This record gives sequence, structure tokens and C-alpha cells, in this order.
Amino acid sequence: MTEKGRAAVYLGRGQPFGMREYPIPEPEPGALVVRISRANICGSDLHMWRGDLDLAALGAPLPAILGHEMTGTVAKLGDTSTTDSTGQPLAVGDRVVYRYFYPCGCCPACVRGNDAACPMNMLYIGPSEPWPHFVGAYAEYYYVKPKHNIFKVPDDLSDDLVSPANCALSEVIYGLERVKLSFGETLVIQGAGGLGINAIAVAREMGAGKIIVIDGIRDRLDLAESFGADEVIDMKEYCTAADRTHRVKELTGWWGADVVAELAGYPEAIPEGLAMLGNGGRYLEIGNISLGMTCGIDPSSMVIGSKQMHCVVMYGQDTLGKALRFLSRNKDKYPFHKILSHTYPLEEINQAFEDQNRGLVKRAAIIP
Ligand SMILES: [Zn+2]
Ligand SMILES: [Zn+2]
Repeated sequence: MTEKGRAAVYLGRGQPFGMREYPIPEPEPGALVVRISRANICGSDLHMWRGDLDLAALGAPLPAILGHEMTGTVAKLGDTSTTDSTGQPLAVGDRVVYRYFYPCGCCPACVRGNDAACPMNMLYIGPSEPWPHFVGAYAEYYYVKPKHNIFKVPDDLSDDLVSPANCALSEVIYGLERVKLSFGETLVIQGAGGLGINAIAVAREMGAGKIIVIDGIRDRLDLAESFGADEVIDMKEYCTAADRTHRVKELTGWWGADVVAELAGYPEAIPEGLAMLGNGGRYLEIGNISLGMTCGIDPSSMVIGSKQMHCVVMYGQDTLGKALRFLSRNKDKYPFHKILSHTYPLEEINQAFEDQNRGLVKRAAIIP
């Protein structure tokens, strides 16, 4: 009899997750099956759960398995799946992380070597009814498709440290590289959530000069300071966009920031952040993923200031490997243990989403 595994399935906007059992797939040549050990709730999962990113409206077949920040151990290896993306041998029982999205490899973006921009990447949430069923993180298993970007996890990195690596950490490494943050530059980070906190450590290791972090929640600003933010701007103290922009100017010798990173996910943060840039500055946009939400920008301020804007979703083929090496070098230097706050068994996934949505926990992890 075929062995089965459990999955929490998303049934639609406003509905609680349901529990299903599916047969554990046999991997095709080049593919593998991972036994998930930890799956976090990321901001974009909350967007989907709340329905502001409406999967049904996007035409995604339901039920689906959400979740993409995950790690686990190899449970089954298909023929020819013998090494990871750095050439290290892979065996059943090895701990691994992998990209959660699947570039097509043959569209114009992929062919130019920019597979982070492949349109197929956004289809990473697949339906759970058809084979191979295990297509998201909130399940006991995950099916890694053939010839995928996968990395063996070094023994010195714990699951809770490594589980955000394939989303928040890789995203900010890739974004800060794309915006060419360089030695000694001033960086403003809008939003001290998972992305913002990781960005502080990454920017510091890239040689950033002054790092200024803006948020409206004191706990998050405290966390930002414990990660080494040089200055924090509390939105409760600096209540308007004009107040905050003035404060950034004051902290940058009245020039403005070299780089501003929008990691909060509010459209109105964009015109505010652009105003914080000095002439020639670069704006990194990662946070806004909710369709149809807009803001007003005065393009002349960008032209006259020779400002650039870089928007990124997903990351490159080598980013996740860099993220692991970054964690191995810096795990004791930054208080990463403070980022994840609570764990829940798979059966309590509805409670986990409720709690994180209400701000009762900073970041919840599901242990399937
Ligand atoms: Zn994520
Ligand atoms: Zn493509």
C-alpha cells in the first residue's frame, strides 16, 4: 500500500485550512521528495490567506498548499539526483533548502540569464489534488521538481536559522546586489519585518555605512537596533511622511540616502522613500505584492534627481547558496534567534495564521 502524508490545504478566501492526506509521490529522474521539518508563515502567505492576494481571482486551481519558507531532509531521491547545486553529493537524510519557484528556462528573461524575472515563477502555488500533490510548505512532504536549484544545509545551521533563508534572506541579498549597495553608503530600510531585519545584517556585511530603519512598532525597532541599525525612526514619533523625510535628511548631512529599500509592503511608502533619496540615489522595491494597490509618484522628482528604481521579486540561482554561507559566517554575530517566535503543529495552522495576523507572534513556524 502506498504511504500517505498530511497536508493543510487552502480552500479559498476566508475559509479555514482543511487537512488532507495524499500518497507520497515517487520522484521522477532528477527530482526528489523532502520531509519538511519547518515551514514559516511569511508576509506573502498572510496576504494570500487574508485574500488581498486572491488566488481564486488569479485563476489558481484550489485546493492549494500555501507556504514557501521551508527546510527539511531528503526522503526520496529520483534516479540521477546525485548532487546539490554546488556539486556536493546528496543522499537520503541530508538536510536541504531550495528555491520554491520554478523558472521555465526558455522564456526571454530566462534565456538572458535573469530567471528571477521568469513569469512562471509566480505560479509556484500549485493545486494539491493532482500528482505530485505536495507542492507547498504546509505539509509533511514537498516534491522538488527535476534539475532544481537545491543546496545541502551545513550541520552548524539549525532549522530555525535556515528556514527563512529561501525567502526573506535570499530576497534581500539579491535585492541589495541588484541595487548595487556599496561600501560606506547610507541605507534607509522602510519596514522592520522579516525582510527588513535580514536586510540590516546583509547590508552591514556588504559594507554599508549608516543604516537607518523606519517602523511604527517599538518591538520591531528594538529588534532592528539589536541587529545593528545605527538609527531608528519611530513612526509614532515622526508621524508624517514629511517628518520622516526631514529626519532622514538630518541624519544624512542634508543630502539624503544613497539607497532606500521598501520592505514594508505599503504603496504610500514609495513616494515617501523616493523623497528620502539623495540625487543619484537608488530605490529598491520588494515589499508591495498586493495587486491593484496604487500610489502617486511625481516622476519629475526622479528625473531631476537622477534617481533609479529597481523592483525585484524572487532571486537568482546562486543566491540561496550565498545565503547559507552568510549564515554560517554570521550566525553568532547577529541575534537571528529573535526573528522566529512561536512554533505550531500542522493541525494548529489556523491558529498560527490567526495569531500572526493579529500581531500576537512576530513570525510563526509550522512543524509538520
Ligand atoms: Zn516569504
Ligand atoms: Zn522563464
